[in-house]
Amino acid sequence: MYRKSWIVIMAAAALLAAAAFLVGGPAWGIGGVYKPNSAKAASLTGLIGSTGSAQAFQAAPVSWAAQTSEVSQAVQASLVTPAPLAAKTAGSNAKTVYLTFDDGPSKLTAGVLNILNRYKVKATFFVLGQQAQHSPELIRQIEDGGHAVGNHSFDHNYDKLYHNFSDFWGQIKQTEEILRNITGSRPQLVRAPGGTYGHFDQTYFSLMDQAGYKVFDWNVDSGDSARKGVPASDILKQATESGGLQQVVLLMHDGGGHENTVKALPKIIEYYQAKGYSFATLTPDVKPVQFRVGGSIPQNRQEPSQAWIDSHITPNAALFDSRILPLALTAGGVQTVLNGGEYEMSGGRFMVPLRTTMERLGGKVSWNPDSGQAEVKWGKGRLMLRPDQGLDVHSSGNTLWVSLRSLLEGLGHPVVKVAKAVDGWQVKAS
Ligand SMILES: [Zn+2]
Repeated sequence: MYRKSWIVIMAAAALLAAAAFLVGGPAWGIGGVYKPNSAKAASLTGLIGSTGSAQAFQAAPVSWAAQTSEVSQAVQASLVTPAPLAAKTAGSNAKTVYLTFDDGPSKLTAGVLNILNRYKVKATFFVLGQQAQHSPELIRQIEDGGHAVGNHSFDHNYDKLYHNFSDFWGQIKQTEEILRNITGSRPQLVRAPGGTYGHFDQTYFSLMDQAGYKVFDWNVDSGDSARKGVPASDILKQATESGGLQQVVLLMHDGGGHENTVKALPKIIEYYQAKGYSFATLTPDVKPVQFRVGGSIPQNRQEPSQAWIDSHITPNAALFDSRILPLALTAGGVQTVLNGGEYEMSGGRFMVPLRTTMERLGGKVSWNPDSGQAEVKWGKGRLMLRPDQGLDVHSSGNTLWVSLRSLLEGLGHPVVKVAKAVDGWQVKAS
């Protein structure tokens, strides 16, 4: 799985970027520009943006823009990290390198784990659902070694992933479910196949953020997937050209065909150890390194509807909430609250206990043992529910759990709004 050949960013793009930065900080402002490789490589990994207003890291020197032009000065000006922000984000002078391995697990992964173990360093593996399905034991080995597992989509197919956001989402959730079945937890870290540049538009960034995911690009590229058979010496060279970055997110691959990355790895680790870096896994608390929106993003994407966002994106964020918030429900003119523990989040759905919920709304539930169905009566609505009716209804002990959305819809009160406030969830139905 080799990424597209590198995109050459031209001075015009830099000018636009600088202008965008200078006119007042759009949400997806430019965090910095860096040039990881030698000047003659004539390629640029990407322009880094960050999702917040603050910058994620210190920019490395730029050497590619014409030094004498005003364009260059504007770009340089945009690279200066404001002092208070630098102080705030750096926290200390600690230098950290985040080794990341994409496209595995494969038959090379065990070798990578052995090396990491030998040097007692931790790394992050952005795995493919397809690969994880074939080698669940390797996913467990990664976890057991104290490394982090991130989501890298199911099959890495750009055409599918970057056609529409809902296709990308489908692969993220599919992979998440595979990993959850293996490890018992959902990965919150996501890396876009090929990186976000030229792939993510603002919708992709913002919906992934709203859904609770942390999307990580990189700021140093080992170049190990620039083409097939990149020699280990080249990988070592590029992996260590980090321009003095304090926080290095290093892109490498442990997918099939990357034997030379494994060969280069010991020397890469030794380099960063010698430079005084500590090694850590990425976590949701690490400020994401993200490329800016740009490049040849596919056109004519279908924007997800508000209804789709309400049912897929908004509830998803609760999956990564450490606290369980109360759920305030308004339906048919009645208001009630389900406290944490009185409802569940499952696959981005609110699942509620049928009898409790209906009684609170003033409805009635009766069980018909002959038909094996529960009958729900509420106002003019009437609904028959059978346990294990797909994903929407399941029984647990004596309780029938049902998707809140399906329940209300079935009773003629479709959900019109799902919102998350500081003090809890709000679900409004007609
Ligand atoms: Zn990849």
